[in-house]
Amino acid sequence: MTEDPIPELQKVELHVHMEGAVPAAFMRRLAQEKKKDFSQLFTDGGDYRRTDFLELLETYAALAALPDSPEDYARLTREMLQQSAAGGVIYTEAFLCPAHCCNNDLGAWKEITEAVREAAEAAETDLGVTLRLIVSSLRHQGPAKVRAAAQCAAETAGDFVVGFGMSGDEARGKFRDFTYAFDMAREAELGLTVHAGEWGPSRMVREAVEELRVSRIGPAPRAVEDPAVLELLRRHDVTVEACPGAGVALGLYPDLAHHPVEQIRRSGVKLTISTDDPAYFGLSMASEYAALRKTFGWDDEIFAQIAKTALDAAFCDTVTKAKLAKRLETAP
Ligand SMILES: [Zn+2]
Repeated sequence: MTEDPIPELQKVELHVHMEGAVPAAFMRRLAQEKKKDFSQLFTDGGDYRRTDFLELLETYAALAALPDSPEDYARLTREMLQQSAAGGVIYTEAFLCPAHCCNNDLGAWKEITEAVREAAEAAETDLGVTLRLIVSSLRHQGPAKVRAAAQCAAETAGDFVVGFGMSGDEARGKFRDFTYAFDMAREAELGLTVHAGEWGPSRMVREAVEELRVSRIGPAPRAVEDPAVLELLRRHDVTVEACPGAGVALGLYPDLAHHPVEQIRRSGVKLTISTDDPAYFGLSMASEYAALRKTFGWDDEIFAQIAKTALDAAFCDTVTKAKLAKRLETAP
């Protein structure tokens, strides 16, 4: 068994927040360029400040407002994809939130997604990693803002913007408050995913599937607390975007051995692995794979299955999927 970070295994990542995937040094540099004092958002060592989940949401929101032009988002995209490629990721679906980027202003959102697309196309050519966007919304902002984000998603839906999702504080609101937004996204033929069952109990996973009819759910570790919820995920063919390292970093579990990711895998629920906000947690897909191998003894066959499951559940078009499937098949 190796403890190497196994960057050579080809990976598919479905659950990563763009602003949470760029190193703190990038955001500090951006703040400096814009002559803004954001020092209170960083630790003395220069890392992102996040003592608990709610502080993480606050730090994230404050820093996500820092990039304020399409050019900034192009740079951020490049930076993020460099990290992904270094970890062996060949395909990633990343969350970008129009509320953070431009207060759900549709015109600005169109310009930003266009800049991100151009940067992604360049990275695909020279880094070998393909990016697609999932428009994310923030649950704690309430149904009206989530609807506005869904509107941005619907208006930019296509071969690059491929999904819609919702993150944020699970304690706020009910899933049924957001069905209108998710229906709007579904009508625009976007794939649907939602955050649930991380800070909230397993019944949140059930409600998310039943009320919002999503095909994916993340990080959802607490689904394991109720066998009936696992059965529901299997029956509805829902794929779990597990983020085990992030769950440990957030203090949900004392260490990886206590994280239920292996239980989810063994339950037969479709499982994928992602890093969530890797720059906040000191993670990469390579380090995540290495930790999973060390803790649970996962071999290359299991990782290959996880990559295949992720690609099957990806929201991109079938031509893109077929190309990527070929890369996975021919991987060493
Ligand atoms: Zn997340």
